Amino acid sequence: MLLLVIPAQAQQHTRFTHADTLRGTITPERAWWDLAFYHLRVRVQPVDSTLSGSTLIRYRVLKPGQVMQVDLQKPLRVLRVEQDGKQLAVRQDGNAYFVTLAKAQKVGQTEAITVSYSGKPRVAKRPPWDGGLVWSHDKAGNWFIATACQGLGASAWWPCKDHMYDEPDSMAITVTVPEDLMDVSNGQLRQVTTNPDHTRTFDWYVQNPINNYGVNLNIARYAHWSEVYEGEKGKLALNYYVLPEHLDSAKAQFKEVPRMLKAFEYWFGPYPFYEDGYKLVEAPYLGMEHQSSVTYGNHFRNGYLGRDLSHTGWGLLWDFIIVHESGHEWFANNITYRDVADMWIHESFTNYSECLFTEYYWGKAAGAQYVIGCRANIRNDKPIIGTYNVNHEGSGDMYYKGGNMLHTIRQLVGNDDKWRQMLRGLNKTFYHQTVTTNQIEQYMSQQAGLNLKPVFDQYLRDTRIPVLEYRPVADGFQYRWVNTVPGFSMPVRVCLGESGPYQVIQPTAQWQKLSARGVKTLTVDANYYVLSRRVAE
Ligand SMILES: [Zn+2]
Repeated sequence: MLLLVIPAQAQQHTRFTHADTLRGTITPERAWWDLAFYHLRVRVQPVDSTLSGSTLIRYRVLKPGQVMQVDLQKPLRVLRVEQDGKQLAVRQDGNAYFVTLAKAQKVGQTEAITVSYSGKPRVAKRPPWDGGLVWSHDKAGNWFIATACQGLGASAWWPCKDHMYDEPDSMAITVTVPEDLMDVSNGQLRQVTTNPDHTRTFDWYVQNPINNYGVNLNIARYAHWSEVYEGEKGKLALNYYVLPEHLDSAKAQFKEVPRMLKAFEYWFGPYPFYEDGYKLVEAPYLGMEHQSSVTYGNHFRNGYLGRDLSHTGWGLLWDFIIVHESGHEWFANNITYRDVADMWIHESFTNYSECLFTEYYWGKAAGAQYVIGCRANIRNDKPIIGTYNVNHEGSGDMYYKGGNMLHTIRQLVGNDDKWRQMLRGLNKTFYHQTVTTNQIEQYMSQQAGLNLKPVFDQYLRDTRIPVLEYRPVADGFQYRWVNTVPGFSMPVRVCLGESGPYQVIQPTAQWQKLSARGVKTLTVDANYYVLSRRVAE
């Protein structure tokens, strides 16, 4: 999702509730059926901030089951659930609804239910970090409405299977709004219908699997323009939607989009959703990686709201939201975490995409300075991986520390072409999939030909930063790792003295010796996110 600013809800959960378990676990009532298709139909009524509509959920029966869990958060209410036109019995447990199906569910069959709902959805307090619906206005007084729900969950505004492990193969999104407004959702706009009741209906269709928080509404009196990008997989439609009052500045600023695509297709492979196009849509909050309709609220300025998160100057040369949120098309929308505890898979790689974008246009040293500069934002407060099965995110260090972990692993790989092929390989191997940390770790270890497990353990599951301790001895140095997890023996590049030729050493937890006469210090290559310390002889 988002970016830096540490969410207000950063206070830690130490105890999890029954509701957290229902939200975050692949419960038996979720596990037996596999999402095939959603058709979300929703009417948005700004005048009283209500939503009403239904989700058709088409699913494949994987194993025997008669009770389905569907999620919808209060204060919205499920009105009715039907299968084959017959109303079903529903038991509510907080934000979860357990639907008892009347007819036998045969393994291998595809079935569907329709869940009707309505109500006033939760209003976002601080989007996108504390999400929900945003009811805002443009300068001319027209409605400017959006959804943002990462972490909170899509069930904050529509009924769904609100767990990230399962994605439908495709999705239709039909949105009815007052006739003077338009809705921009995900995928391609197939049809616009004018209704007799002074509303219009926008039919969007997503041809690819989509994660639930990626689904979005953006409703305004948008100005629109488009262009075609010639990319790795052919022609890609780029569509831009902004408030009319920002059209000129947006047309200038959004020139970043083809530049972004060029850099990211180079590093990560083809944009993962050619069939659905790419859209950049102005929203009444900072930004979010909504799949194929990235939302933008960075005020048409470079940097992150005009600031450089790396403190090096490089971050002022490009638009943070365009680059970061679009980077998520590869790492978040293409490769998606199964459990939000593994959110680093989205944010660490996307933080690193900022470095790679910088490197693509300003060279390798610039990219390295950027990612190293971001270290100032690392807190080492708690592990990056959160608690599984309770919808719990780990530390915000998943951004800058995660990016620096990847930059460190790149040093271990020691071959930029191979590194790039690994990044492209991840996007190919896990194309349109939901994944676990273990899958990413194993893939990267295999491709690198290195056991990276202790490195991932150190940076993702521990808060300590490795320290290279060294001490002068008669004709050189002794050195070792301290502050590390068991088995940590990461090679590291050092030079003797303050500068000079670098060499790779292989420290472990035991002292080893390096011959070097008359030299008093060791300097570690700054590309490695480690510390070093000279200790007494
Ligand atoms: Zn992000």
